Amino acid sequence: MKPETVTIEDKTFKIMIDAETIQARIVEIGIQINQQYEGKKPVLLGILNGCFLFMADLVKQIDVACEIAFMKVSSYHGGMESKRVVTEDYDLKMDIGNRHIIIIEDIVDTGHTMRFIVDKLKARNPVSVSICTLLHKPTAMEYQIEEINYIAFEIENKFVVGYGLDYKGFGRNFNAIYQVVQ
Ligand code: 5GP
Repeated sequence: MKPETVTIEDKTFKIMIDAETIQARIVEIGIQINQQYEGKKPVLLGILNGCFLFMADLVKQIDVACEIAFMKVSSYHGGMESKRVVTEDYDLKMDIGNRHIIIIEDIVDTGHTMRFIVDKLKARNPVSVSICTLLHKPTAMEYQIEEINYIAFEIENKFVVGYGLDYKGFGRNFNAIYQVVQ
């Protein structure tokens, strides 16, 4: 199924990145991670809920020995505006001292959420922290985050849904990414 537009509640969204383009880019990122983490046994740390499809497809491209872990935070609380308040719903249980961490995120928007997570992780003494994000809105950034090493797609500063991202809880199951029609 590849509709050109989708409607969720009161909003219409048009296709922005199709499923084939997403999968091709994930293969490229997998190759980069395999080259850069050979022998390092990284922890791939998914940030729920939005990461779940991206992470599932990405880890299938990772050949190096790695562990999988999750954290859950909320910052949009279902709407279209970042609330600049990060709620911690589920913390990482693993000891990450002396480990290489690759954070797997759906989207870096203002950077508030990532700044919060990176600072929290660094206090636990990992060897390195790197961010791999599906989407990045460079013009929305309000923080400097030099840990962002892998970006699948840079997009303009408009609200998107699909492939893990929701609007009012819906749309996470779409296999493509859609942009709101203003
Ligand atoms: P930040 O803290 O960087 O402003 O926002 C990060 C979080 O806000 C993301 O993990 C995601 O949950 C949510 N977010 C930011 N932009 C979008 C967007 O365009 N669409 C959706 N569905 N969520 C977004």
